[in-house]
Order: sequence, then structure tokens, then C-alpha cells
Amino acid sequence: MGACHRPPGCRSYEWCTDDGPIAKRDRGITGGATVTGAQSGTRGITVTYATINPYTGEKLREYPFLDTGQIPDVIQQADKAFRSWRHLPVPQRAQVVRRAGDLMLERKDEFAGLMTLEMGKRISEAQMEVELAANILQYYGDRGTEFLQPTPLTVDVGSAEVVNEPLGVLLGVEPWNYPLYQVVRFAGPNLVVGNTILLKHASLCPQSALALERLFTDAGAPKGVYTNVFLRHSDLPLVMENAAVQGASLTGSEQAGVSVGELSGHNLKKCVLELGGSDPLIVLDAPDMEKTVAAAAMGRLFNAGQSCVASKRFIVSQEVYDPFLAGLTQTFEALRPGDPADPATTLAPLSSEQAATDLTAQVKDAVDKGATAVTGGGRPDHQGAFVDATILTGVRPDMRAYSEELFGPAVPVYRVANDDEAVKLANATSFGLSGTVMCSDAERARSVADRIDSGMVWINQPTSSEPGLPFGGVKRSGFGRELSQLGMYGFTNRKLIRTMPTA
Ligand code: NAP
Repeated sequence: MGACHRPPGCRSYEWCTDDGPIAKRDRGITGGATVTGAQSGTRGITVTYATINPYTGEKLREYPFLDTGQIPDVIQQADKAFRSWRHLPVPQRAQVVRRAGDLMLERKDEFAGLMTLEMGKRISEAQMEVELAANILQYYGDRGTEFLQPTPLTVDVGSAEVVNEPLGVLLGVEPWNYPLYQVVRFAGPNLVVGNTILLKHASLCPQSALALERLFTDAGAPKGVYTNVFLRHSDLPLVMENAAVQGASLTGSEQAGVSVGELSGHNLKKCVLELGGSDPLIVLDAPDMEKTVAAAAMGRLFNAGQSCVASKRFIVSQEVYDPFLAGLTQTFEALRPGDPADPATTLAPLSSEQAATDLTAQVKDAVDKGATAVTGGGRPDHQGAFVDATILTGVRPDMRAYSEELFGPAVPVYRVANDDEAVKLANATSFGLSGTVMCSDAERARSVADRIDSGMVWINQPTSSEPGLPFGGVKRSGFGRELSQLGMYGFTNRKLIRTMPTA
């Protein structure tokens, strides 16, 4: 298979080689569905499943893809497991999920260490992720049964209720940026529902993927209930066309979303897409500038800026713009690159060398076209996939940084004259994942929040995630929700039972 030569930001979904796109017939795809890109993700550089430490560049372990010929057997196993798993009492399934959460906490150091090794997450943030992921499993273990209770409906004659039944085998396609959290927010609730899972994790975090499979097995999930699959992109059609597979959930880039969305549509399967974002963080006032700057910096820099809901554009009222920019610059300039396993490190590497190259190119494009790098703008003189913590001003619509997702520690800062201008700029994006409004006047903050076109808005704190709150976007950030009762219904047959009096 050749390398993909899509230019950054390209939305084409053809397979490419050095000689150009490969025709569908040569890709072994018989239906109308196509699969995008080489097995390189949009940001990674791996061509197979491999642990490559982004701090040292060293390839540590490599894993083969699941053999194409074995895929039907793996699906059959998941389907067989579904047929008994679905009939267990809900509390029994919930208990397995709860136990997985407890076990994850017991294995905190192992899980955190793997994430730091495989995608460069700072160790303190990796530990926080383990806690959040474990809390999600515990939450659905404890509350899932209650969420799945039937809903009675008011009718004139007899009775009616909506009951909740599982659909079958689901495919999860997950990204590397939160190797645990992304998986459990899909798998935890769905296992309680009674679905069984085939999990295709990102190719750059195979050890985390295997540790998750071990976790569910050790928690008591019978064989086939949760299966890790190191799938090639080109094998996704084979999975999606199998009658036992009833849906797919993908968290990842727009390009991957197009691919899985197309396969789902072609096979008439349900699909949830959790895609990228370019979330605005709007600062309307700042009675405590230090706290506002700290919150904004955290919103942009957490996970080295590689979060779908990171605050990726700062939109600042002119009254507070100058002190905000000064404070932010000071905060960004204080960061030091270092080993993510060292708790003293303040700036982590990006997940791969390719990710660092891509972000640097977006920043360079802006600067070449006239933007100002107030701080940063390049790469530090340090081993590893580092990019300077960068602040850009003067970013205009003709620059990539205006419209593309910046997946790393770089942020444009815009000055606006009033709330209307802030809302207009916030909505001037094809994405609609989340957003943040920082303001001491609750009514004013709410009025701005109500006008932002996104799936979520957080007021006075950058967007985060909690086990019981729905997560998801609109526009090109995808559709469907994960987490909360809303998320639990994503792959649930909400079946009507209507009972009439006997004749
Ligand atoms: P990505 O390249 O799209 O990869 C995500 C997953 O999709 C990986 O398992 C990847 O497999 C797979 N994949 C990629 N291209 C595919 C294709 N053409 N066909 C089938 N599968 C494909 O995304 P990423 O760069 O790893 O992740 C970052 C992106 O995810 C960002 O845009 C971020 O905003 C978004 N994200 C969204 C959310 C949300 O909840 N909305 C959460 C986190 C991240 P390989 O690794 O094998 O290529």
C-alpha cells in the first residue's frame, strides 16, 4: 500500500499512492462505500499498530493487523456472545462494568504509564484520565440499570411503554488522544445496554488497547463481549457489511468520519460520529484576570492541546484584550518541554512527529500570510515531537489557522468590540462541538451561550467531560451523543410495547 499524499486539510476520501488515487476496484471494495486514507490516520505516521515513543522517537513494539480471513470468525464470536449477554439481567451486566472501573483504578499506574509512553501525555494528566475513565465505568455500573427502566406512555385505552433493548454487535473506532476515556465512554454504557463490542483503537496506542481488553476480561466479560481488533482501514467494509454488526461509533477526524459515516449509510447501520472541533473561548470580562488567563491556558494546553474540546480560538472583548494577551503570553512563555513521564515537565510532545510537522505548517502558513506570532511560532530545540506554545494575532480568513482545527499548543487570539461580534466570530466555523463563555454576569454569559451553534457550551470553565453529562457536536463535528441517558440510547432499540384490553 502506498503512502497517502493528501495535503493538510484535504477532504478528499480517495486512497492515494505515489502515483495518485487507487481505483475502487483495486481496493477490493465491491459496494458503494469507500475507505479513506492509508493506515496513517490523519496525523500519525505508523503504517501498522506500533508503540513509538513520541519523546524519544523510538519504536518499541509492533503488532500485526488482524488477518482479513479471521474477521468473520471474530464477528461470529461477538454475535454468539451477544445472544447470551443480552439475556443476562441488566444488573449483572452492570456489575461487570462496575468491576472494570474498580480494576482500572487498581491498575492506575500501568494504564497511565502506557498512555505516557504511547502518545506522550504528561504523567499527571494520564493519571487524571485513568480516574475519569474509571469513574465513567463505575457510574454506568451503578446507574445504568436505572437508565434502562421502561418509560410508560399515557394512552386512552390499555397501556403502552417504551422498553430498552440492545441492538447487537457494535464497532467502535477510537482515537489516541484519550486512549482510555474515548473507549470507555462508548463501551461502558453499551455493555450495560447489552450490546457487544469490537474495538478498533488507533494504530499508535496498541498496548493501551490490549490493556483495555484485558481489563474487561478480568472484570468478568465473557469471551466475545469486548474484543480488541487491530483492523486495517481497508477491512472496515467487511465488518460493516456483516449482518451481525448493527452500528458503529467513531471518534476521530472529519476524514475518518466521512469514511465510517459512508460505510454506515451504505449498509444501513446506525452510526454516531464524534469528530473534531475549533471551539471558541469567549472572554467578555475578567474581574480576576489571573484566573481567567489560567483557565484559558488550561483550556488550550491540556493534553498538549490535543483535545477535541480544547479551546482552540480565543475571542476577547476589547476592554480586557490587552491584559489578557499579556497574561497569556507570560503563561505560554513559562512552559518548558521535557519528558512527559517527569512530573515536573510543563510542555509535553505531541503524539507523533507527523502531528508536530502538521501543526507547525499551519502556524507557518498564518505567519507567512501576515499573522503575528506573539510568542512561539516554531519548534523548540529539543528532542521529541514538540511544538512551541504559540499565540497568533492578526489571523484572517485566508489563513489555515482561521478555519482549520489546530490540534496542539497554538491559538489565535481575536479582539472584538461587542457580544454580537463575539458570537459572529464564534460561529464562523464549519465545526460545532463545544465552546466556552467567560463572564461574571450570568445573564449576559447565558445569552451569548444560547447563540453559539454547538453541541455544548460551558460557562466560566473550559469544556470538560463528566460521566453523567452528554457529549457531542453539530455541523462538521458530527452527530449523536455519548454519555448520559442520551448517549445510552444511541445504540438501544427503544421498543414500543402496546397492550390493548383483551377482545
Ligand atoms: P483519526 O486519524 O481520524 O483516527 C481516529 C480513529 O479513526 C483511529 O482509530 C484511526 O485508525 C481511524 N481512522 C482514521 N482514518 C480512517 C479511515 N479512513 N477509515 C477508517 N478508520 C480510520 O483521528 P486522530 O487524528 O487520531 O484524532 C484526532 C481527531 O479526533 C481530532 O480531529 C479530534 O478533534 C477528534 N476527536 C473528537 C472527539 C469528539 O468527541 N468529538 C474526541 C476526541 C478526538 P488508525 O489509527 O489506524 O489510522
